[in-house]
Amino acid sequence: MLWNFKRGLPHAHILLTLVKLLTPADVDNFISAELPNKDTDPQAFQIVSKTMIHGPCGEANPYSPCFVGGECSKKYPKNFNTETLIDINGFANYRRRNDGRNATVRRQEIDNRWVVPYNRALLLKYNSHINVELCARTKDEVRQYLDCRYISAPEACWRVFEFDLQAQRPSVESLQFHLPNEQTVIFSDRDDLPTVLSMPGISTTMFTAWMMANNEFQDARLLKYVEFPTAWVWKAEEKIWDRRKRGRRIGRLYYAYPSSGERYYLRMLLNIVRGPLSFEDIQTVNGFLCPDFRSACNSLGLLEDDNEWHEALQEASIWASPHQLRHLFVSILTSCQVTNPL
Ligand SMILES: [Zn+2]
Repeated sequence: MLWNFKRGLPHAHILLTLVKLLTPADVDNFISAELPNKDTDPQAFQIVSKTMIHGPCGEANPYSPCFVGGECSKKYPKNFNTETLIDINGFANYRRRNDGRNATVRRQEIDNRWVVPYNRALLLKYNSHINVELCARTKDEVRQYLDCRYISAPEACWRVFEFDLQAQRPSVESLQFHLPNEQTVIFSDRDDLPTVLSMPGISTTMFTAWMMANNEFQDARLLKYVEFPTAWVWKAEEKIWDRRKRGRRIGRLYYAYPSSGERYYLRMLLNIVRGPLSFEDIQTVNGFLCPDFRSACNSLGLLEDDNEWHEALQEASIWASPHQLRHLFVSILTSCQVTNPL
């Protein structure tokens, strides 16, 4: 058995020698390339039309992966054939009668010319795409699949038991933040800007809604912004933070580069402040409203002794790659004011 992967899905090419199919009648007994009768064999009809129809590719779907240079590389749609023919090389030209049977697949009407050859019994047993063909020559195709991906026994079991192929734990809420009145507003180029800007709630963001929640709920003020998703859930459609009833989520602030100025200092403050009710609150240190976020950081002693750069590198060391870390270090040295580069 040779395993191969098709579009990320487990996919096997199997060559079996069961019986020798010598005559067209033998082939017809095992392999069909026609739609089953919808009325007398509805289950097979349903599986074939769901799993065994090629494309449809063609003018209606020119971006189909099989479509190369204006034609189907798998040569679909095939021609109608009144009966199965086996040519001198042993290749089978399957029976595809023009019998009026059709199905609608991906919004396109198809007939027997689009059916990928299958074995009815296998389809009914496994209810999945299983292409069965008469094997004329084995050499070339087997060699083609020798360069295959190797699946170890544990991974094969993992897939057979249909365990999850990926997961992320804990789940992470990416927290956006912005300077006052610098929130992102999304609109289409046909929209009228004054109308967009006068829409209710347009100035509300995940970030401002956090401060609104702090205004409203005493206990919300105990948390820093990054801690907020552990106890509150962001409801994007309503643009509100709601109390978390179940599950676990952690928050991570979007990154701000050291050279991004005030945005960078705002982010630094957000790692410290709890429950601010407004931008001014974030900018206030010991009851004194600082002129900007940088001064607030300064008043908090965050900028002494290159502290901010130590912090920046320390924090980036959690998630950045070595290359990114070196890049960050160089940009701190070249575009920021470092007291002691050594
Ligand atoms: Zn095609």
